[in-house]
Amino acid sequence: MKLRADYHSHTTYSDGKGSMEDNVRAAIASGLKTFAITDHGFGHGFFGIKRRKLSKMRAEIEELKKKYPQIRLLFGVEANIRGSSGRLDLTRKEMELFDIVLAGYHFGSLPGSLEDLTTHLFNFLFKFFGVCKEIARRKNTRGILLAMQRYPFSILTHPGDKGPVDLRAIARAAKRHGIAMEINERHKHLTVEELKELEDLKLNYIASSDAHRPENIARIPGVLERIREAGVPISRIANLEEDEHEH
Ligand SMILES: [Zn+2]
Ligand SMILES: [Zn+2]
Repeated sequence: MKLRADYHSHTTYSDGKGSMEDNVRAAIASGLKTFAITDHGFGHGFFGIKRRKLSKMRAEIEELKKKYPQIRLLFGVEANIRGSSGRLDLTRKEMELFDIVLAGYHFGSLPGSLEDLTTHLFNFLFKFFGVCKEIARRKNTRGILLAMQRYPFSILTHPGDKGPVDLRAIARAAKRHGIAMEINERHKHLTVEELKELEDLKLNYIASSDAHRPENIARIPGVLERIREAGVPISRIANLEEDEHEH
């Protein structure tokens, strides 16, 4: 199995190590047909994209599209679900500036409200105080469900990775909204157990490298192992294809 499309990668515009062109060249070398650059959204406190760089980034992608017509390039973003407010760190209008929008919850996102701040707090506290886990779960779940209702994004990144969630509720809503759940090479959720638990929902998944270095683009050995172990049919992973020699 290999990726036909890798929809999740980072460059030096956020916390990645390669330039856009480094990433694109690596994507071509690995045989991808479609490739997205999805740096962290504006609201990431440490390495979010700077709004003032957006037009430069878009121009750079357009240049790369011309220079490398053999691959389909997408200018994307990994937006931050800020917390239980369900707000993303970009407006619906700003979403239109991108070819693809991914969204996920990250500890480094700047809270937009007190609700979001307490979401971060409970995701920290529950590791030490078990009683906080249920509150954290409710907050995380609420934020993700609201975000899916409000914003037409395409992929929910590493669901459940940064804090506990009601995964079934999220998975059902994702299906209803046509949002793909991600199986991410760099993050342990979705786990094999979770994939098994969700089996009856017949979800659509996207497998991603979430590469932060060019050499990791399209590399998903851990994802493939999880999929195999959980018995998820390959047809459910929208961006996977069989190797030529397997035909
Ligand atoms: Zn992420
Ligand atoms: Zn990422």
